[in-house]
Amino acid sequence: MATYGIYQGRGNYPPKPKGATRFVVVSDTHNRRPHVEWVPDWDVFIHCGDITMTGRHSEFSRFRQWLTTMPPENPKIVIAGNHDIGLDREFCERVGPMRLRKMFDHKGAADSLDPSHLFDPKMNIHYLQHGALELKTSQGKIKIFGSPYVFKSHGWAFGYEKAGNRWKEIPKDTEILLTHMPPSETLGAISEDGEDIGCPSLGQAVRGNRSIRLHLFGHCHEAVGVYPEEATRRVLVNVASLTRAYNVNKKTYGLTIVDRV
Ligand SMILES: [Zn+2]
Repeated sequence: MATYGIYQGRGNYPPKPKGATRFVVVSDTHNRRPHVEWVPDWDVFIHCGDITMTGRHSEFSRFRQWLTTMPPENPKIVIAGNHDIGLDREFCERVGPMRLRKMFDHKGAADSLDPSHLFDPKMNIHYLQHGALELKTSQGKIKIFGSPYVFKSHGWAFGYEKAGNRWKEIPKDTEILLTHMPPSETLGAISEDGEDIGCPSLGQAVRGNRSIRLHLFGHCHEAVGVYPEEATRRVLVNVASLTRAYNVNKKTYGLTIVDRV
């Protein structure tokens, strides 16, 4: 069974263990660019959502431009978050162009985006919107599932009030789970006010799925950290790159390194 070496710190990056797959993970970058290039020998880039502030076309173009500065042979796996509203077509249609313009400075429906144009698998960019990917690595295939949905997003994108069957749809052979939302009952979901803002049904689904070994999420900026679960030997990591004030976190430089050994 794979084990994970996880590092969130200020530089001094550990050397990649022989034969390992190195992931460099960011989340909640909100148009900022943590220095991924500082990390040596990385293989796969992951973004756990909230790429932008208000999900406009121009913001995504800048993000894609950033991805093109990375080695083309390295896969980039991306999910959205509640701020990335242009990717939530259903939300854009529901709120309508007037409100999009007023609240989010959107040009209206034209700013609702087709992810397949933005994130091209031919460019090795894999956009997961509640979907799975079999990632080919030198260690073999790794099943990854990614989802943008956010419990109680309070008028932002990809929100839901009741989980329904949503989280039961995570495939039973998922090894690495990417969600923007934290699960409940982890320190990774505790806000500055001491409130657990995680989703109980996501937590329940993850605890009921034994194949998941690593759960990466963001959303709750101030709870960034690595939270191993002794009983299940599973690792939960809040990978948020920015502070609550939307600056790159100086304690981590906005980066999480995961070595799958
Ligand atoms: Zn955020």
